[in-house]
Amino acid sequence: MTQAVEQLGIKSYVAKQLTYWLYNAGAQSYDVMTNISKDNRRLLAENYKIGVNPPLSVKISIDGTKKYLFKTERGNYIETAFIPDNNNDRNTLCVSSEAGCKMGCAFCYTAKQGFQEKLSVHDIINQLNAIPERNIITNIVFMGMGEPFDNYDNVLKSIEILTSEYGFKIGKRKITVSTVGIVPGIKRFLNECDCNLAISLHSPFEEERSRLIPMNEVYHISDIMSALREHDWGKQRFPSFEYIMFKGINDSDRHVKGLCKVLNGMRCLINLIQYHSVPGDEFQTTDMEVVKAFRDKLSNKGFSTTIRASRGLDIEAACGLLSTLKMRDSEYSKKSSD
Ligand code: SF4
Repeated sequence: MTQAVEQLGIKSYVAKQLTYWLYNAGAQSYDVMTNISKDNRRLLAENYKIGVNPPLSVKISIDGTKKYLFKTERGNYIETAFIPDNNNDRNTLCVSSEAGCKMGCAFCYTAKQGFQEKLSVHDIINQLNAIPERNIITNIVFMGMGEPFDNYDNVLKSIEILTSEYGFKIGKRKITVSTVGIVPGIKRFLNECDCNLAISLHSPFEEERSRLIPMNEVYHISDIMSALREHDWGKQRFPSFEYIMFKGINDSDRHVKGLCKVLNGMRCLINLIQYHSVPGDEFQTTDMEVVKAFRDKLSNKGFSTTIRASRGLDIEAACGLLSTLKMRDSEYSKKSSD
C-alpha cells in the first residue's frame, strides 16, 4: 500500500489512512475518505479500483449457517460458509483459497470440478469484506475450496491483512489453515505464521489414506508427522487433525489403534467429522453412536478428541457442491443458448 501511494507521488502516511478506510471502516468509495485530500483521492481513484465483489447468492440453513457463492473476476465460482455458534459467541467464516482444487480427494465435491484458479488476495479477503457479517466474524478457517498451501503466498498475504493492526485485527489463534499435508508448505507455515494448523488425516494407514487423499502418494503420513514432530511448537500452539469418518472405511478399532500409534505422544486435537452422504455417493455415513465410541476410545488413550457438529445440512453444505451445481447451471444455459 505504501509503495502504491508513493508511486503516485502521494505521501507514505496516506497508506495508513487508506488501510483504515478499506479494512476497518469497510469503505466502498474514495468519497468517504475525508481525511485524504480531494486531489489524492482523485489520483487514487484513477489508478486503483476499490470496493467489494458482492456474493451472487446466499443459502440460509435453518441452523443459521449461510453459504455464499461468489464469482471471481476470472469467472469461476467459489463458496464461503458463515457458521454462527451462539452458545460460544463464535462466528466462524470458512473461506476458499482456490476455485476448484488439484488434490483430487475421493470424497470431495470440489475435487470433481478439477482446478480452475488460485485465488488472488483480493478474492480471499473479499469473502469476508463483502458479506453483511464482516464485522462480527471471530474465527476464520481456510477449509473451503482448494488446498491453501498450493496458493501459499496469497494465503499468507491474506492472513497478514486479516490479523494485522492495520487490517481486520483478528487474533492469530483465531485463524486455522487446513492442509492435506503439503510438507514444504507445512514447514514454511510453521516458521512464518503463528496461526493454527490443521491436517486432514482421515486414516492412519498410508495405503488407505492414499485412496482417500491421492496427495498422500507424494507426502506420506510419515513425512507429515516428521515435519510436525521436528517443529518446536512451544506452549501456545499445537496441531489439530481433521478426521472425516466414512462408514466401514476408517471407523474401526483398527483405525483407533493406528491413530494412537501415529500420533503417539503428540500434543494435538483430533476433530472427528461425520461424513454426510448424498444419494448415489460411494461413501456412507458412519452412525453417530460409532463416532461417539471412536471419540471415547481416543479420549481414553489421552487424545483431546471432539466431534465437529454438522452444520447447514439443508443447504448443500458439502464443500464444492453449491458451486458445482452453479457450474452445471451455467454450462447448461450456455449450451441452450448455443
Ligand atoms: S478435500 Fe480439500 S484438498 Fe481435498 S480435493 Fe477437496 S478441496 Fe481439495
